[in-house]
Amino acid sequence: MTGKKKRPRTLRREHERAVDKLEDARERLARLEPGGEATRPIEVSSASVVESRALGLGCARCGGALELEAHDAVRGELGPLRRVRARCRACRARREVWLRVAVSN
Ligand SMILES: [Zn+2]
Repeated sequence: MTGKKKRPRTLRREHERAVDKLEDARERLARLEPGGEATRPIEVSSASVVESRALGLGCARCGGALELEAHDAVRGELGPLRRVRARCRACRARREVWLRVAVSN
């Protein structure tokens, strides 16, 4: 240690790295939450709300607004699922959300 103060550029880089780490952790956490994996779909009552429900989650990294990239019907272990792919308008990170439309009687 020289005891010298850190230069602003060094501090800024350290800050950026810390933010990146935090956002990585948030993304991992989001995958453990409902909708994050095909084995943990979010239940919705109707196919018409699949997209609004998924996009309403926001970006896993920064909380920004999501825009729809793709919405597919996928056959999962739990039956027919919907996979919504979205991208953050702010940081451009991708988010994949899994949903299941509950069958009403
Ligand atoms: Zn984002």
